[in-house]
Amino acid sequence: MARSSTSSNKKKVLIVGAGAAGMSCADGLSNHPDRFDVTIIDAQAYCGGQAFSIPIDKKHGANWMNQGVQGGSYIYQHTFHHFRKCGYEEEPVELQVSFGKGDKFWTNLFPTNLVSQHASDIKKFNRFLKIVRWTELFWALIPIKVSCKMAGLSDEFVDYMLFPSLALFLGTGNATPDLPTIMMERLYTSPTYGMWYPCDPKSLSSNLPPMVVFPESSEFYRTWQGKLEERGVTVRLNTELAAVTSRDPVVRVMLRPRRQQEDLHNPDGADQDLPATEEVYDEIVICTLADTAKRVLGKDASRREKWVLGNTKWSDDITVTHTDIDYIKKYYTIEYDESQAVENINGRDDSQRVRKGEKEFQPMYLIKQVPKNPRLLEMCFDCTNFQYQLDKNLPLEDHVFQTIFLNKRDEQTWTRDEIRKDKIIREDWWHQLCHSWTHYAFVVPFVWLLNRNKKHTTFAGSWTLVNAHEVAVISGTAAAYKLGADYPEDLYKNDFARKAFKSYLFLTHGLTLAKNRIRKSSIQI
Ligand SMILES: Cc1cc2nc3c(=O)[nH]c(=O)nc-3n(C[C@H](O)[C@H](O)[C@H](O)COP(=O)(O)OP(=O)(O)OC[C@H]3O[C@@H](n4cnc5c(N)ncnc54)[C@H](O)[C@@H]3O)c2cc1C
Repeated sequence: MARSSTSSNKKKVLIVGAGAAGMSCADGLSNHPDRFDVTIIDAQAYCGGQAFSIPIDKKHGANWMNQGVQGGSYIYQHTFHHFRKCGYEEEPVELQVSFGKGDKFWTNLFPTNLVSQHASDIKKFNRFLKIVRWTELFWALIPIKVSCKMAGLSDEFVDYMLFPSLALFLGTGNATPDLPTIMMERLYTSPTYGMWYPCDPKSLSSNLPPMVVFPESSEFYRTWQGKLEERGVTVRLNTELAAVTSRDPVVRVMLRPRRQQEDLHNPDGADQDLPATEEVYDEIVICTLADTAKRVLGKDASRREKWVLGNTKWSDDITVTHTDIDYIKKYYTIEYDESQAVENINGRDDSQRVRKGEKEFQPMYLIKQVPKNPRLLEMCFDCTNFQYQLDKNLPLEDHVFQTIFLNKRDEQTWTRDEIRKDKIIREDWWHQLCHSWTHYAFVVPFVWLLNRNKKHTTFAGSWTLVNAHEVAVISGTAAAYKLGADYPEDLYKNDFARKAFKSYLFLTHGLTLAKNRIRKSSIQI
């Protein structure tokens, strides 16, 4: 039987998806219990979406590790705001990377032969960055693979040094050559967003980017769920939005229950035999991935919605979490490689960096290239070196690695079968957004048009801009703001957070942040 809309003046809001975006939206609306009656649903049996933790053997130093989202940078102010409110903290880490192997190996910790050989490319690249900085808008949509050719950079430099340095930070994997040039430029020239800032004119990247690693994601999201429930939000897990049947004058949806799996991860597309029932709401906030949004809107989607949502591109990747050190040693550089270290880097004495490398080389982000096509990457985390709770002093045999095989389409190039089965802790498939230039030409500039409609519909999620946890949180906060929620005072007083939020709000909703819409906060700044 259909539920009817509430007879009170409260707006009945359905939030679909309890990932970072949906939870942030629910959080914003829950501060106005007099105006909103909030229900958040998720097809899975847990809140957090792509941010979750898994249990591991205590011999690794802790009995948990984060599996999807692992960390971010100091710009993640909205994420930190929610950590603090729930009593959690992020931990700082100085990032070390290790790209390639043998004569193709380089790192940000100390210079190597590869870096030395590309002295003229690095010089050219520095000059090119300055030009791009001055003429930024022109490069906004030009793919990196094109601009690097225009700059006259060698293929080896681009493939073995430049692309890996971008792929890991931006999480763009094999879509890196198609990234808009402006993203590459920002990564090297922006004091705020530039993880490789300042670009080193002698060795490309010699800084150790200050990053943060997240607290236990599943615990944090469970606590957040509890806080939302205390504030009157109805959280319904194992509940899937099967279809939106109409949205005017009210939103009618078909919701299907899901059978809970032991590990709380319900497989996509299962449980279709369970009957869906209709429910009615005043507003819907869709915080799923864009292609899911298009599917559930089905025939009710407008042409504009079909076009924008349909222009997002996705790849299916798999992460293998394992302890196979032989596999890692075969394909990655995980230990200090004396034969590749270079003390004098194009006239500059870098022996101090080499000494530091000898003692402290503990790379966290690693990349391997497919030999036949170096533009196809395999990415890997040494989670033990990266995640603060794991014991870095353990022998490498006891480190936990997460190897990411990108894009099922390229499966024939994967070496996944070489990872010993008895060393695998867990495997997870992910449907990941590709940040090609088309995303910034045909999706991002039009999200505000989707959000301005008479169909009681709002879209949020990291796909609206960049695939990052912080963007998801900002998008959910902006969705709540659009519907009438206030913006938290501590974030308003934080210059960086406020500017980021205002830019996002304008870009994806065409709205400005009003001074009289700031909510007093319980957090001290
Ligand atoms: C392997 C991996 C590592 C990553 N590492 C990082 C990192 O270190 N740092 C970082 O900042 N970002 C990282 N990201 C990106 C980051 O995880 C995402 O950008 C962010 O978590 C997305 O949040 P979201 O709320 O937009 O979407 P999601 O987290 O995907 O949430 C969407 C939710 O909608 C639910 N849902 C889908 N369909 C339905 C339906 N029909 N009915 C009901 N519910 C539905 C899903 O179950 C899900 O819970 C990583 C991503 C991956 C895959």
